[in-house]
Amino acid sequence: MDPYDSFKRFLEFILTPSAPVFIVGLLIVVLFPIGLHLYLSRSVAYITLPTVLLAGPSGAGKTALITRLERRTDGPPDTYTSQTPNVVELAVSEDATSSFRDDLDAAGAVAKKFLLVDAPGHGKLRGATLARLRGGSGNSDPKLVAVVYMIDAAALGEGGAEDKSDSGLADAASYLYDILLALQKRMGATRSSKAPAAVPVLVAANKADLFTALPAPLVKAQLEAELGRLRSTRSRGLLDSGFGADDVGSGTGAGGGDEMDDWLGEYGSKTFRFEQMREFDIDVDVVAGNVAGSGPGIDKWWSWIADKV
Ligand code: GDP
Repeated sequence: MDPYDSFKRFLEFILTPSAPVFIVGLLIVVLFPIGLHLYLSRSVAYITLPTVLLAGPSGAGKTALITRLERRTDGPPDTYTSQTPNVVELAVSEDATSSFRDDLDAAGAVAKKFLLVDAPGHGKLRGATLARLRGGSGNSDPKLVAVVYMIDAAALGEGGAEDKSDSGLADAASYLYDILLALQKRMGATRSSKAPAAVPVLVAANKADLFTALPAPLVKAQLEAELGRLRSTRSRGLLDSGFGADDVGSGTGAGGGDEMDDWLGEYGSKTFRFEQMREFDIDVDVVAGNVAGSGPGIDKWWSWIADKV
């Protein structure tokens, strides 16, 4: 039998309705999309690196940090390129002990790669960052492993202790408040699907080289006080809208629900402490450092990040 003949018989066979042809056809129709999906989702998982989000008010030093980490320089970046990247790919050794100065590619070492993403600090652009953190509606970052919140520790005390409204503290605290609340909601929105991984927060108190910079424990205390103040101002709106004061004290009041969801930290507590975020699996550390000048530098921040990726 010549090949042409056998091909004709084969065509005739598959074009004639019969049980085997039907079953094979059905299997292809059903299995092909499933196989394609599995293949694609596996290869996507390969290229998504763990992400560390770098946020904070403008002028905190985020661009300076990201540029310095990218260039692995020991001093501050003396020149900025006209287009500073807002995402850099960085690497740390498997045991998380390598310095940001090490070129792991050149050393041929096995490294954990991750992305450091600079979130713009301008007011208008904060909404997108917060939506990303809150997650829930499919736009969350499944690979978000940590948030570095950078502030200018030398700008917190400006304007004297009494007048905090025009100091950097008010701005630094209100953005941090939104970020922590977004992360808290992210942890809370897990009723249906599997729980998202906990996202720790590092408050990087920058510009420790300046003599006006507050030390880390003071930065922590000032932020906690301001966050507590913000929490009571913001919750006053909730109280005015018919939410009974009794409910605040009980913690499980009938008025719970949405009001509870909008309360940062331990529900009903009088003072705010970062430790309260542990309830939502969110660890907050405050560490001082500096990108420029002489001081503790950025090594402690780097090891904090290395530890989380
Ligand atoms: P961004 O808006 O958060 O990206 O802040 P930039 O990276 O643009 O930094 C704002 C300014 O702070 C720049 O003039 C930096 O040179 C300066 N700066 C950043 N880090 C430090 C630091 O550790 N010490 C001092 N003295 N200045 C810094």
